[in-house]
Amino acid sequence: MAASVTISGISKSYKKGTPVLLPLELHIAAGELFFLLGPSGCGKSTLLRIIAGLLEPNEGKILFDDIDITGLPPEKRQAAMVFQNYALWPHLSVFENVAFGLRAARQPEKVIREKAADALSLVRMSDFAERRVPSLSGGQQQRVALARAVAVSPRVLLLDEPLSNLDAKLRDEMRLEITRICRERSLTAIYVTHDRREALSMGDRIALLDKGIIQQTGSPVELYRCPVNRFAAAFLGGVNFLRVRLKGVADGRLRMESPLGNLCAVPGKRTEGECTALIRPEALSILRGDSVRAENRIETEYVNGTFLGERSELRFKAADGSLLDVTAGTFEELVPGMHSTLTVSPNDISLLKD
Ligand code: ADP
Ligand code: MG
Repeated sequence: MAASVTISGISKSYKKGTPVLLPLELHIAAGELFFLLGPSGCGKSTLLRIIAGLLEPNEGKILFDDIDITGLPPEKRQAAMVFQNYALWPHLSVFENVAFGLRAARQPEKVIREKAADALSLVRMSDFAERRVPSLSGGQQQRVALARAVAVSPRVLLLDEPLSNLDAKLRDEMRLEITRICRERSLTAIYVTHDRREALSMGDRIALLDKGIIQQTGSPVELYRCPVNRFAAAFLGGVNFLRVRLKGVADGRLRMESPLGNLCAVPGKRTEGECTALIRPEALSILRGDSVRAENRIETEYVNGTFLGERSELRFKAADGSLLDVTAGTFEELVPGMHSTLTVSPNDISLLKD
């Protein structure tokens, strides 16, 4: 049965005085596909290895369900790990690779055959059972690694950047596959990545990590739409930051003064004081026609842009000289220096806590 995972006060430094993880608190529900997201070097693999039992924390406890497993060796935790480099045995067949953990657990031969065959079928690799690992593509090897991990019915599945060695198209395909497998088997999975697209598209919830500290935990939509600070906002997508002064609520709108002029947003908890507001580049659009009445008109001048096929990345300069990034659906017939009125829906201005 899939277990819940509780991380309580876990900290780690490899060298005295240089903490890699500051005391962390995290609860992952049974059956959840949970992401640890953050830049390279922020401590993601360290935390995953502590959960796996491959590394000892300096302080804190790890619970699977309500049982403290901090002192247990890896093989007693019933956690299975999938690595970026697959870590398969090149001299064994695909089938024997998948059977490896079951043999190590001294399961009867009949059970080994059944479970390995079932896991291979789950990752759609049954036809490759007798093949040698080096004759497989990277994507196929990653499927075998996944089958090996799932075959032992782990209580917790741990994945460390499992798709980073695959090309873009295969990565998209494997994202869907991993999500499907985790759902079908109701696995508790903890997935480490630096790729926000993976985390946003696959995760039930995400913990965003930076410098050994959890900056924010929430659903993909919460993290994207309501990041708590500049780091979280910028790590999850494109950003335009504005320093604003809140002027209270009038006519159902939170009013604010900004370097771009007066703006309004949907009222939240804060109504007074100064803070940083976030507008995502795709939330800004170019307003056409003088007669259109719109909230949040921003007068600008077009600077330059890059055509990227399905979208374009454009840059505009506001009256105060600040630059605004805009993602638009098409490459407009824009000429540098041309006057353009931009607009943003009050729904799409969010306030950061810092
Ligand atoms: P991530 O997986 O997020 O890229 P890691 O957990 O691998 O980050 O590493 C976090 C920090 O700990 C990095 O600064 C890294 O250099 C350091 N580190 C990782 N493993 C060791 C180790 N075995 N000995 C010393 N320092 C390490
Ligand atoms: Mg890592």
